[in-house]
Formats: sequence, C-alpha cells, structure tokens
Amino acid sequence: MTAKTVGHADVFESLRHEVEGCTRCPLHDSRTQVVFGSGNPAADLFFVGEAPGAEEDRSGVPFVGRSGRLLERMLETIGISRQEVFISNVVKCRPPENRDPSSLEIETCSPYLERQIELVEPRVICSLGNFATRLLSGEKRGITQIHGVPRKIQIGSLDTTLFPLFHPAAALRSPAYASGLEGDFARIPELLGSPEGE
Ligand code: SF4
Repeated sequence: MTAKTVGHADVFESLRHEVEGCTRCPLHDSRTQVVFGSGNPAADLFFVGEAPGAEEDRSGVPFVGRSGRLLERMLETIGISRQEVFISNVVKCRPPENRDPSSLEIETCSPYLERQIELVEPRVICSLGNFATRLLSGEKRGITQIHGVPRKIQIGSLDTTLFPLFHPAAALRSPAYASGLEGDFARIPELLGSPEGE
C-alpha cells in the first residue's frame, strides 16, 4: 500500500459507505445495489464509464460484462492489470432498461465521482464514451471527434490529464471504434510516464 492509500483509506471507505446508502436521485428505486467502483484507490490511472448495466447491478462491480472483458484485454496490451487501476462510472446506479442517465441523475451523482477522483489523485483519467467525456471535459463535441487527444483538466484541487476514449461497448459493436480504442490505448503508458502526465 502506498502513502497515498494510507492517507486517504479512511476517507475513501467513508465515501463508499455514504454512496452505498444514497437515495438522492430516482435511480435508487430500481437498483439492486450501488456500484461504487473498484480497483486501486491510489491508482495513477482512473477509468470512468457511463452507468452500471445489468451484470454490474447484480454483482456490485463495474465493467464485469463483455465491455469489462474488453477493457481488461486492452489493459493487458499495455502491461497493466485491472487491479492496478480504478474503475467507476458517471452514475453509480443502473438506469432501468439500460436507458441513458438523465441530466438530473448525472448532476446529482457526479459530485461522488469528483470526490473519488480527488481522493485517488490519478495522473490520467480515461473517460469512456460521450457521457463521461462531456462531464469531465465540459466539451459538447462527441467522442468520435475528441478521442485520443489528452487535455489538462482540474477536478476540485487536483490538476490532472483527461484522455477521452471510445466506450468498450461501442468498440464491441464497431470494428472502426475497436481499432480506435486500441490505438488510443497504446498512448496511455506515454501519458503515465511523462513528468506532467502529458
Ligand atoms: S445514481 Fe448516484 S445520486 Fe442516484 S441514487 Fe445512485 S448513488 Fe445516489
């Protein structure tokens, strides 16, 4: 365990406890359980997806279905294990029928994501798909236009690098997105290794 983990472990667990009991938006009605996020709470690399799906809602762990397996395979290509990174979503409860999360739900839940990011202090945040990228970049342009281009962002008091990527679910549907995701993934080690994360 690193010094970063020791310093924040109690606060991180208390945040997990708070989120797991959250009823602040309508999604709490239909969820099986909150999907807080999983992985290394002192990770240098933080992935943000959109929302839990059916398998995540059942297991309580993000990215456990086909998209999760693709994400793990992509991580393997750059020599990083799932346990080394932290993975979470824009909203922590599953929208019914896998619909898109609403603006109200995103607005209500996103402070939790921001607090997670501030505690983990990642050097690089990979936003997966449009919802996470728009939330964290403030950009209106879609992921097809801005994927693979790192940018500096500030989350609370943390200066970090945002690296927008295609969502693995999109990559599973389209060979072009799969190839784009693979190409962008290959740049992650360089972003992690440079002095300022870029
Ligand atoms: S989605 Fe977020 S804000 Fe809504 S109930 Fe779940 S944890 Fe709370």
